[in-house]
Amino acid sequence: MNPWIFLLLVIVAIALALWIPRFRLRQVMKQPFPDEWVEILERNIGIYKNLPMPLRLQLRQKIKLFLHRKHFSGAGGLEVTDEMRVTIAAQACMLQINRRGPIYPRLKYIILYPTAFIVSRMETNESGVSGHAARGLLGESWDNGKVILAWDNVLHGARNFVDGQNVTLHEFSHQLDSESGNTNGAPILAGESSYRSWASILSGEFRVLRKKARRGSRSLMDHYGATNPAEFFAVATETFFEKPEKMARHHAELFKVLRDYYRVDPRNWKAAER
Ligand SMILES: [Zn+2]
Repeated sequence: MNPWIFLLLVIVAIALALWIPRFRLRQVMKQPFPDEWVEILERNIGIYKNLPMPLRLQLRQKIKLFLHRKHFSGAGGLEVTDEMRVTIAAQACMLQINRRGPIYPRLKYIILYPTAFIVSRMETNESGVSGHAARGLLGESWDNGKVILAWDNVLHGARNFVDGQNVTLHEFSHQLDSESGNTNGAPILAGESSYRSWASILSGEFRVLRKKARRGSRSLMDHYGATNPAEFFAVATETFFEKPEKMARHHAELFKVLRDYYRVDPRNWKAAER
């Protein structure tokens, strides 16, 4: 073949490979948000009806983008339905409101089990003895582009948006955290000063929660957040969205840095039981 024709064909192929995904995305984003999906949001997302209309519309656009980009698969005999996909996407996208740019760029797959799933891991106990331990989990977030969730718990957490427990918000905040290259409780922030105040406020609150967890005393945030800084950020995220009034009252500085980070104030979404 004439080398010039070959070169031309290569250029056309590259141009098409770049253009087709963008074209498909534009088509998806132009489609109206299906009425059945609105019903799913109203039925399953406890906070949805309390969101102001501009945020609802923004959330719907992000859900379409999320569902176009991410691949869902069922495990443990579960068949993934639109109800599951929309319910998960809505909560994942709630962490992305008022944000531009790609949505969870490292994330590719969401794997869904019907209920808690068992994982077997190599673990080392306090005496240094290693062995395989089997544990039941409700959710997991991996740095290699995967989130694993138990559907029954996802649904319960989505419908009850006031108890401070939400496995979907939890696992997707780990995804945000991992975008910095390390899942360590410090996601990508706006500037150096933000990192300084983030580090000092979150580490101070983490120490307080660790102390409370050790003593077994009551705390607004779940004691699981005392496990390490990454879990603290994930648990603080759940509390921020589900118990914002109480967090603002009892952990004002933490509430403020999370409000700046998530660019929303969930206190404005007046839910019934707050
Ligand atoms: Zn976690």
